[in-house]
Amino acid sequence: MRSIEDEEVCRVCGYTDGDLFFEDTWPTHIICSCCGWESGTPPLDVSGTRQYRGYWTGQGVEWSSRGARPKDWDLLKQLRNIPEDWR
Ligand SMILES: [Zn+2]
Repeated sequence: MRSIEDEEVCRVCGYTDGDLFFEDTWPTHIICSCCGWESGTPPLDVSGTRQYRGYWTGQGVEWSSRGARPKDWDLLKQLRNIPEDWR
C-alpha cells in the first residue's frame, strides 16, 4: 500500500516513471533516468537539490538513460512536477 511518505517524483528534475525514489521516507537508491540523481545520496537538502538542478540544466539537461527520453519530452512541463518542497 502506498503511503504519503512514498515519493515517485524526482526531487531534482520532476521525472517519474512510477518507480519509488523513497518508500515510506526510506531511499530506494534508484537512479533517475533523466537527471541521474540517486535517491539517498547527496544532495539531500533543498539548497543542494537546487544546485544540482542548476548544474544539470547548465550542462544541457543530459538524460542519464538516453533510451528513456520520450520523443515529445517537455522539460518545463516536467519541472512543474517537482514536489513543492524541493523547488
Ligand atoms: Zn531526476
